[in-house]
Amino acid sequence: MIRIAVLGSTGSVGTQALEVIDRHPGKFSVAALTAHSNAELLIGQAHKYRPAFVGLTAAKDEKAVRERLPSGTALCVGEDCLVEAAALEEADAVLIATVGFSGLPPLMRSIQTDKRIALANKESIVCGGSVVMSALKEYGQRIYPIDSEHSAIFQCMEALSDEKALSRIVLTASGGPFRNTPAEQLHGITPGQAVRHPRWNMGKKISVDSATLMNKGFEVIEAHWLFGAPVDAIDVVIHPESIVHSLIELKDGSVLAQLGMPDMRVAIQYALSHPERLESGVARLDLIALASLHFEAPQEEKFPCLGLAYEALRAGGVMPAVLNAANEVAVDLFLNGRIGFTDIPRTIEYAMSRAPGVPLPSLDDICQADAVTRAFLYNRHAAAPGGKE
Ligand code: NDP
Ligand code: MG
Repeated sequence: MIRIAVLGSTGSVGTQALEVIDRHPGKFSVAALTAHSNAELLIGQAHKYRPAFVGLTAAKDEKAVRERLPSGTALCVGEDCLVEAAALEEADAVLIATVGFSGLPPLMRSIQTDKRIALANKESIVCGGSVVMSALKEYGQRIYPIDSEHSAIFQCMEALSDEKALSRIVLTASGGPFRNTPAEQLHGITPGQAVRHPRWNMGKKISVDSATLMNKGFEVIEAHWLFGAPVDAIDVVIHPESIVHSLIELKDGSVLAQLGMPDMRVAIQYALSHPERLESGVARLDLIALASLHFEAPQEEKFPCLGLAYEALRAGGVMPAVLNAANEVAVDLFLNGRIGFTDIPRTIEYAMSRAPGVPLPSLDDICQADAVTRAFLYNRHAAAPGGKE
């Protein structure tokens, strides 16, 4: 039995992880659950799974929540609950599915344990980069990726008998909801339109990231760290059907890919069950019904966030953390109707142009770059006439 701490259990990945756990009751159980502010859903989950521990990073009424939890379930409130859940004695695995920079502290903590790490939160590896990689090396730990593209690459890499055979990684991207929207109409996009993703039903923040292509930019950085591929050996191709989850090209020109219906439960389950393959209940791929698959180049001028992510990875140091923090602020301002869709890349570019060069950042440097970038952008926005950029 693998006892799992699910961080971000009330979100899109978190609830799908619980579906995977439900499907294999003899194999998986829940040791801990955490949410940000959705106490109602968290309490319901606690009654269903009876975990040893639940955490709320932004609880409104701690006492009321505590009174409604089942006996035997401890409550921890505040940001530290993520780190506590990541190191919980009663857990054998940690599944990190919180959103944004919040994933970095529990990722770092889980690396210091011998628990299985199933990682959905890509922002932690985007920001943490070399610090995460050296901690993994120091503690002899590894990450099982949940991001579908990285799960695909991980699965393709497993098939290699020659570790040095990899020559290129090709990440596929659906292209988001505005692939066919003329560039001049992008400024009028509303938050409601941006969170309606054509293929995947995801949280709001990642849905906006998919619409700007920042999500794919983050995935380029994630692939660089997880698979040790140089930045110039990672390409992005738009594939609207989201059937080919990603590909690797080998020295001899062979290309391996992982295909399947777009359903996150396959990647979530494999990150928990590897090397074992379990029945998933996911719809089977019917190539004849699909009939054709399409591929095209990303429109980098129309979606500058992808290029900004490559730039941040090339710059190194704290730049990816600045990229991420600026994106989190810009997406928050956009979702609250305070800036337009095309202001998102502008805000990030501005933050990056002012970022300091820190060649070999420590975890503290990264946390500081994150905090400084956020404070700077929120203050600047508040000071702008009418609160607009
Ligand atoms: P959601 O917004 O649906 O869920 C986020 C979860 O994290 C919720 O449980 C939420 O709690 C909690 N949370 C939100 N803010 C914080 C915070 N500041 N500190 C701690 N916990 C917080 O997101 P998704 O499930 O869509 O995405 C989660 C992560 O997985 C992201 O990093 C995303 O990039 C990645 N990912 C998601 C995919 C998907 O298909 N959704 C695919 C690949 C990767 P509450 O409900 O209380 O707000
Ligand atoms: Mg992905």
